[in-house]
Amino acid sequence: MEDLQNEYARKFHTIRPTHQRLTLTDEQYQYAAKNILNLPPADGFTKCFCGASLKNKPDHLHYCPQTRKKEINQRYDMIVKALARLGDEIGTTCIESRVSKDTLERTDTTIYALDGTFSFDVVVTHTNCPSYKKRNMSVSALKEAKNNMKNTKYLNKESKDGRIFSSFPISSYGAMFPSTIAILRKLASIAESTGMWSQNAFFQYAIYPTLIC
Ligand SMILES: [Zn+2]
Repeated sequence: MEDLQNEYARKFHTIRPTHQRLTLTDEQYQYAAKNILNLPPADGFTKCFCGASLKNKPDHLHYCPQTRKKEINQRYDMIVKALARLGDEIGTTCIESRVSKDTLERTDTTIYALDGTFSFDVVVTHTNCPSYKKRNMSVSALKEAKNNMKNTKYLNKESKDGRIFSSFPISSYGAMFPSTIAILRKLASIAESTGMWSQNAFFQYAIYPTLIC
């Protein structure tokens, strides 16, 4: 799969966790490895709660309508929280964005730093999802389309309110893309300005917490 060729997919295998809270248990590591290998999450787990067989579609849980509202959203929330925690760790104020009076919508998080206010919105995509495959789009075209969708929704509004908006796209296999990397590099540059990190060290550190969600 195109996603798995991305530089950041599978990177969690090679980065050494720097903190106890970032260490995966054996069970979590097995789930992550099976996800990458496109195997069902557990031996003997051959059928989803919705009745769908996992035999030929072991990644079904990434797009099952039954798990979409809870498990899939939970992962999304974990990534948002991981990014907010990174913001906290480098001394920025990181808060859940306010709902716009005009649209009643909001981006996930706003980071207030000395050199600007940044807002971002996480997009998690399972590129192997049958509904995408039907459209016969390449992974990069799909990412581009989702990115454009978020930019159309938020870019002007956020800019009008003095915030620099960026989407944070990540795939269910851990693939990261230019705007994902740009946000992590921005955080790394803020981290370096505090004198506590080198930019590259923080960037390398920041990749892992988002990948293990
Ligand atoms: Zn299902």
